Amino acid sequence: MTLASDTWAELLEGDGAHVWHPYAQAADPGYIAPVVAASGVRLQLADGRELIDGMASWWCAIHGYNHPVMNRAVTAQLETMSHVMFGGITHPPAVKLAKMLADLTPASLDRVFFSDSGSVAVEVAMKMAIQYWQAIGRQSKQKMVALRSGYHGDTLATMSVCDPVTGMHHLFGEVLNKQFFAPAPQSPFDGPCPESDMAEISDILAQHHNEIAAVIVEPVVQGAGGMRFYSPDYLRKLRALCDAFDVLLIFDEIATGFGRTGKLFALEHADVEPDLLCLGKSLTGGYMTLAATLANKRVSEGIDSGDAGAFMHGPTFMANPLACATAIASIELLLSQPWQRTVQRIHDELATGLAPARDLPQVADVRTLGAIGVIELREAVNMREVQPMFVERGIWIRPFGKLVYTMPPLVMNSDDVATVTAGMIDVVSRL
Ligand SMILES: *Cc1c(COP(=O)(O)O)cnc(C)c1O
Repeated sequence: MTLASDTWAELLEGDGAHVWHPYAQAADPGYIAPVVAASGVRLQLADGRELIDGMASWWCAIHGYNHPVMNRAVTAQLETMSHVMFGGITHPPAVKLAKMLADLTPASLDRVFFSDSGSVAVEVAMKMAIQYWQAIGRQSKQKMVALRSGYHGDTLATMSVCDPVTGMHHLFGEVLNKQFFAPAPQSPFDGPCPESDMAEISDILAQHHNEIAAVIVEPVVQGAGGMRFYSPDYLRKLRALCDAFDVLLIFDEIATGFGRTGKLFALEHADVEPDLLCLGKSLTGGYMTLAATLANKRVSEGIDSGDAGAFMHGPTFMANPLACATAIASIELLLSQPWQRTVQRIHDELATGLAPARDLPQVADVRTLGAIGVIELREAVNMREVQPMFVERGIWIRPFGKLVYTMPPLVMNSDDVATVTAGMIDVVSRL
């Protein structure tokens, strides 16, 4: 379907008057693309042009858009029950999804708490960690240790564990909790992790473990805080440190979960079990907003045993049946195909396609892991200039800072991956 071209102007006029976009000025958000439909890996613009989506809508749309299997799952659940409260009630999609998540993740993680978004899943994990120590009589353990270049969400508590610089801590002054920050791991993904990577975090834990509830990290891939990859060996050493100093370990796999790094979960690269695990983003294949926090028995039984008698959290839309049914369909669809081979193919195509960027003077680094391809520039891009350049080349890429990156839907074919990487190289070479 092609819409009249005045739809473009009309949409942007309405948008300009009333809509506030993420990380953008209200009155002057820069380039905005009016998308009226999406199918497969293509976004359709209001004037009928199509863009190949290199972003999977911020890691989510692993099966692409308008997928018949996903559409059927949503429709079937819609005709059964779209929502019911979760206090004192359960329902088949929640039970089935919780069992699937418990089965797919490390054996010790057997309790699932559903919420609406990734940030909330991280807040829930932080609250669980704090409430756990409170429940077993160690009230002093309330702080978090996080890594520089990390990203864990945009709500006030999650911001406090995001990188203090890119997370704009200075804007929020006294309101953000003061947490401990360790350096981002320097060891590369395919190398060992030297003791130097552990020195500072070891010191923090040694000195302050009586105040520390948990360490929170994104395993193997630091996403929105810098698109950095690091050694799985770091996670093994971190688990040992947390055990030595009696501190819980939280893995935030909201970006990395469901195949993106070549394993179903990034923690599998290290074979390490956290005490708490956060999932979101591609959990529903990008169809609905849903997130989950998984806990082991130590945490759930500890909290149960406390004075409060319960974990104190309860989202209105907790375990929304439509979202749970969609997540079940998305996971079944992913697991029904040779997804590891697909991720490997996309990886190899991204590595080949982005390699020429290494020769450009404006490029500081090119890196790939799983179905993630990153060009790091020496200077931050000018979004107003660069965004329309990608659209002119028929691709949707949304850089941030110095990073021009792609994590395509896993259904993207080789020709489309080649178009995306060629477009990225062409745009970057003109900056
Ligand atoms: C996106 C993201 C979040 C926040 O999820 P929202 O759904 O945007 O609230 C948290 N942690 C990581 C690692 C993420 O990539």
